[in-house]
Amino acid sequence: MDLKRMIRVIPDFPQPGISFKDITTVLKDPDGLRFTVQEMARRFRDRGVDLIVGVESRGFLIGAPLAYELGTGFVLVRKPGKLPAATLRVEYEKEYGTDALEIHRDAVQPGQRVLLVDDLLATGGTIAAAARLVEELGGVIAGFAFMIELAGLKGRDRLGDREILSLVRYD
Ligand code: AMP
Repeated sequence: MDLKRMIRVIPDFPQPGISFKDITTVLKDPDGLRFTVQEMARRFRDRGVDLIVGVESRGFLIGAPLAYELGTGFVLVRKPGKLPAATLRVEYEKEYGTDALEIHRDAVQPGQRVLLVDDLLATGGTIAAAARLVEELGGVIAGFAFMIELAGLKGRDRLGDREILSLVRYD
């Protein structure tokens, strides 16, 4: 299936110079989400994944059905102030300034094998921060799965030698 054909590219959104990859057009296609989830499940089904961790907010849209498909639990990594119970927080550098992410402190058990999911890998700052949260709780990173990779930004170089799946690449 040609997933790339389903992705809508919006130039200069949300600011000049950014080529925004809009996955709403994949999600509304009857086959788009199913193909995405099934391809991710095919790669990671036999990797002993215990838990999917999805990053707010588009990581939830892919991560939750992937957890359903693999028969694992699903954990949310959210922007600050959204999770109601005790949280662990990590701050990370963005292109302009810093940002932060949080996870519930009891969301990952030590030794659990975690697959991290987001819609898109750009610089890798976001998913690397999410991985730090998982590791601080004692989780083991089983791999990373993205619908889209902006390969020119070399985000994968920040993720070590762990397994990285991306279904569509832009240079
Ligand atoms: P990064 O931390 O640089 O890897 O950025 C990844 C996060 O920012 C993901 O959660 C994406 O949803 C979002 N993102 C970054 N660049 C784009 C883009 N060109 N189009 C759509 N989303 C993007």
